[in-house]
Amino acid sequence: MEEFMLTDDVFEQIKDFVYNSLTEEQSLLIDKLILNEELKLRYKGNGLCKDCKQPRASYYWCQCKFQQNFKNWTSGNYKVDKFIQKTQLKAKDYNCVLEWIEYDRFENVEYLAKGGFGTIYKAIWKDGWIYSWDFENNKWRRSKNYCRDYENFPVVLKCLHNSQDITSDFLGEIEAHIMFFSKSVFNITPCYGITKDPESKNFMLVMGYVINGSLRQHLNNSFNSTKWVEKLETLQDIAQGLVYIHENGSIHRDFHCGNILKDSRYTFITDFGLCRPVNVKPSQNECKELYGVLPYVAPEVLRGNEYTQERLRPKSNYKIPQLILNIIKQCWDADPLKRPKAKEIKDLLYELHFSSKFRSDREINKQIEDADKINEKLTSSSSLYTGPTLSYTTNPQAVYTSRLLDFKNLPKPKNSIDNKDDDDSFGEYSGN
Ligand SMILES: [Zn+2]
Repeated sequence: MEEFMLTDDVFEQIKDFVYNSLTEEQSLLIDKLILNEELKLRYKGNGLCKDCKQPRASYYWCQCKFQQNFKNWTSGNYKVDKFIQKTQLKAKDYNCVLEWIEYDRFENVEYLAKGGFGTIYKAIWKDGWIYSWDFENNKWRRSKNYCRDYENFPVVLKCLHNSQDITSDFLGEIEAHIMFFSKSVFNITPCYGITKDPESKNFMLVMGYVINGSLRQHLNNSFNSTKWVEKLETLQDIAQGLVYIHENGSIHRDFHCGNILKDSRYTFITDFGLCRPVNVKPSQNECKELYGVLPYVAPEVLRGNEYTQERLRPKSNYKIPQLILNIIKQCWDADPLKRPKAKEIKDLLYELHFSSKFRSDREINKQIEDADKINEKLTSSSSLYTGPTLSYTTNPQAVYTSRLLDFKNLPKPKNSIDNKDDDDSFGEYSGN
């Protein structure tokens, strides 16, 4: 867009064509006149804007509507301004728009939590997000819907500590987040824009507010009362989101249930690389420095090998259907190459979830029924139970926020089941 523009001469020649029903002759002329592929794609997809005489980047607006407004706002930081401008000029749809939002567009700002490298607030955004340009009334059409309609639209403000000197790499992480969201709106949280805390002068990301909070909070509140069918659905959603991230050649690097958000219906992945300091260039010490939440970091990463697209090995004493347990165990293999890819996990979970909902004759249904029954019994008699913890509880001593982790000379990871046929210490209720 910046580099390639239609000349007035070309505009004059094609301005009366109907872009979505070109004659063969017109089509040939377009191919001859518009040599830049991106411009041609824009023209054939969305036609011309009569105002700026350029092909539109979006069916819902022309990028000139953003451009005309550039002079009316600034973040106070050149890099951030350029980043938002660039994102707006190429936005094709509502899920790719990023805005600079003045802090006074928010009200009822309330503190929610402190993370490793940022503080999270909830706020009401008075405007709502952009979904199209109203050509008649010359203004943006906005929506206050996220998972449901709101009168007072809640958003999350994530304040990034020490972000006055935010790096370009970090802005790249935000760009990646927007790209993932545009591909998977039901599994990734939206990032609507950037604002600035007027007191600390730190930048804040404006993100979708998800009602039940993090998956960790949700599990703490209702792990026992959640049936396995719902758990399976949640697992499948998470795997789906992860597939999109991996398909785009990225790695989350801080994947744990504090970074997964739970609505009553959907499950969203959030926090792409947003868990490390915003002013550190990853290229300086990419492989040396490790940020994350310890229980969720793969053992080979702690030893200094690079992140892979496979992860984790936590603990539980809760009855898990064997078919799901089999998948979990595969994910725990000490050898990262033997762990299934996100796509394989998603496919396995999809099949189990589909069977559990629509194929009552399948083995998974019997296992789910048994597991739900046992867990229900355990919950109701938990006051008498003296064995291992049954409910999903977090260790009060543990640190569940992302931080710089530093471990050297750890032993090579190995499977805990190396000399046993099966690991029955996990997921198997023995009744004692
Ligand atoms: Zn225009």
